[in-house]
Amino acid sequence: MRLLLIEDDVALGEGIHQALSREGYTVDWLQDGNSALHSLRSEIFDLAVLDLGLPRMDGLEVLRRLRDSGSNLPVLILTARDATEDRIAGLDAGADDYLIKPFDLAELKARIRALLRRSAGRGQSLIEHAGISLNPGTQQVSYKGEPVALTPKEYQLLHELLSPPGRVMTRDHLMQLLYGWNEEAESNTLEVHIHHLRKKFSTDLIRTVRGIGYLVEERR
Ligand code: CA
Repeated sequence: MRLLLIEDDVALGEGIHQALSREGYTVDWLQDGNSALHSLRSEIFDLAVLDLGLPRMDGLEVLRRLRDSGSNLPVLILTARDATEDRIAGLDAGADDYLIKPFDLAELKARIRALLRRSAGRGQSLIEHAGISLNPGTQQVSYKGEPVALTPKEYQLLHELLSPPGRVMTRDHLMQLLYGWNEEAESNTLEVHIHHLRKKFSTDLIRTVRGIGYLVEERR
């Protein structure tokens, strides 16, 4: 799961970034509204945590423009204690949930989990392909009827390759999905995850498209 955190308060941002990374999320952190909107439009995230008081375009404007462009990305807004109007405006502009500062990090984590569960269940049904059954709602995976344990990154990778099968996924796209910009990843780390997936399912499940990326064939 890749999250975008947009918070200009460095101490708070660091705290949230650390807490969410420890939960196993890939977290990218930006500190102004302008770059946030740009990233939200050009990259893939599963959820955004958006502070409303931001330099170079406030959070409300970021949210409005994001929704205007047709995105239904789950967005949790962070607002100041006395700013009831902000909260209402945020929800009206399409925020899925809000937290009032100061908040408990445990509560933030719980709200994020709930939003991700909701969005996973939203219009996503069971994916079945080549003996694999993947449930986006529960994140459970089975192969030929037997449950298979996957790491969060393996799950993410498999989900992406199966949504839908038959598309070549470039290395860059997959690396960005798994690691975002901040996390340092070894250059062969994607190959390692792919290797593990082949071992857990079948060696010919994922085809290497030389010089480009990976592919799960549409029909096997
Ligand atoms: Ca702020």
